Amino acid sequence: MSTRKLWPEEYEGAVSLTFDDGLPSQLRIAIPLMNDLGLTGTFYLSPREDDWREKLEPWIAVHEAGHEIGNHSLNHTCSRAFGDDPHARGLESLTLEDIEVDVVEAERRLSERFPRPGGRSFCYPCWQSHVGEGLTRQSYVPVIARHFIAARGLGEVPNHPLTCDLHFLWSWDVSRRTGADLVGLAEQCASRGRWGLLVFHGIDSGHLPVASVDFAELCRHLDRHRDRLWTAPVADVAAWVREVRNGV
Ligand SMILES: [Zn+2]
Repeated sequence: MSTRKLWPEEYEGAVSLTFDDGLPSQLRIAIPLMNDLGLTGTFYLSPREDDWREKLEPWIAVHEAGHEIGNHSLNHTCSRAFGDDPHARGLESLTLEDIEVDVVEAERRLSERFPRPGGRSFCYPCWQSHVGEGLTRQSYVPVIARHFIAARGLGEVPNHPLTCDLHFLWSWDVSRRTGADLVGLAEQCASRGRWGLLVFHGIDSGHLPVASVDFAELCRHLDRHRDRLWTAPVADVAAWVREVRNGV
């Protein structure tokens, strides 16, 4: 194992708090709490509606406060297995070109509102990163790798900076986890010298929720231990990991 310094300053590991689908409880509860404590995270949006400019309006202040607004694709297409209609639009019937058109248009819209010269991260809708099925099934990770600095998938352990796939970072779905569980995951990052991505949806309400008291317990822990636990948006940690890998 390399003796190279893997994290900046005195950090023992890194944590990225990530939030999907632009839920109102994120704006109402998570962001004010994080802003009060000076913690920043990544909020993944799908700007698909006709009035996308208006829908993105509340997120401008979030971007300006230092959070990353991430790309969650335009149409949020997942497997058709979620529904009962065999003819529904699903990843099974899309091509790699379809995916590229979709994510590039989402990026055009997000860049207009939330410019990120250093690069933006992507998050696979429903944690699924394929098109086609059976013999025609293909990964669309290479498409994402052409356009984004990093991307969030799903996995089991926190990411090692020298071994992770930056375009399929492992993450934990933390819905319904307790504050103690969440703190335990953050501490696992420190003890293993790794980078953990925690996936939130609703806070108190909405789908896959975490209770606000549990979320607050995690945030207070990250604040108290900010000298040794690096809490930062996915794109920012990815930029550091790229530098480490380049030997800078
Ligand atoms: Zn989603």
